[in-house]
Amino acid sequence: MQLTQRSKSVDRSPMTFLESLYLWNIMKGMAITLRHLFKKKATIQYPEEKRPFSPIFRGLHVLNRDAEGRENCTACGLCAVACPAEAITMEAAERLPGEENLYREEKYAAKYEINMLRCIFCGLCEEACPKDAIYLSQTFAPANYGRKGFIYGKNELLIPHPINEREAYLKALGDRTPSARIQNQPNA
Ligand code: SF4
Ligand code: SF4
Repeated sequence: MQLTQRSKSVDRSPMTFLESLYLWNIMKGMAITLRHLFKKKATIQYPEEKRPFSPIFRGLHVLNRDAEGRENCTACGLCAVACPAEAITMEAAERLPGEENLYREEKYAAKYEINMLRCIFCGLCEEACPKDAIYLSQTFAPANYGRKGFIYGKNELLIPHPINEREAYLKALGDRTPSARIQNQPNA
């Protein structure tokens, strides 16, 4: 009994002399190759050439600072709760007197880690954050040979200082946040 109507019976009759030379089939194959030579190439010369990302591309996370360079994150844990992949872990700490220039509020994340092997780049952590402390940038995690290399800590995630490392800060900020749009305007 046939399950579908797509089966074809195989032609097992002996090949003619011309068929046994395979010339016709080779020419057909070459014609296909030639046709593709003049088509627009689907491949690009990465990393010299890069494709533009979609405006809604969600890449590597960035932990944000305020305009004075203080860390925005208050270690409230909302991003970790919102994360469907359980990729975020953190440890909260109390700000000490004299650390007001480092952390914006009384609590901060002493440890903040994202496991990029778990992350599905859904952006829910960014949406859950009430402090504009985390956003997904337009870069992606580079390849790595070891699993540990994909666990990003605060050192890798924290945005450069907006005053001391201005150029790197603006680059990391990208076009994703409203504050970046204001700062990137010519008269800002
Ligand atoms: S992007 Fe999604 S999966 Fe990745 S850390 Fe944020 S909430 Fe979790
Ligand atoms: S990144 Fe935002 S949501 Fe996550 S702990 Fe810090 S302040 Fe809370």
